[in-house]
Amino acid sequence: MTDALVQINDRLARAAREGGLVMATFHCECGECLAADVPLSLDEQDEIRAREDLIFAPGHDAPRSYRAMPTQPEVVQYEASEWELNRGRPFGLT
Ligand SMILES: [Zn+2]
Repeated sequence: MTDALVQINDRLARAAREGGLVMATFHCECGECLAADVPLSLDEQDEIRAREDLIFAPGHDAPRSYRAMPTQPEVVQYEASEWELNRGRPFGLT
């Protein structure tokens, strides 16, 4: 899904450039929405691709289905609270 959107967006960028446009409406690549419209200048789209990043609508990010980087907020929260727990009870104190 996301890969297909990337290809669609790249095609949009190419077509817009060939048509002499400076802006185009791309699709959000977060994979969690229904490809929301994202108006971007072609320069911005170029920069995003240069960073090997994805195009996101405002507030959309961290795709779960791309780049195989599973993040589990629950685990992070657990680790944080455990750290605070340990910090509140220094070694040797009861
Ligand atoms: Zn999105």
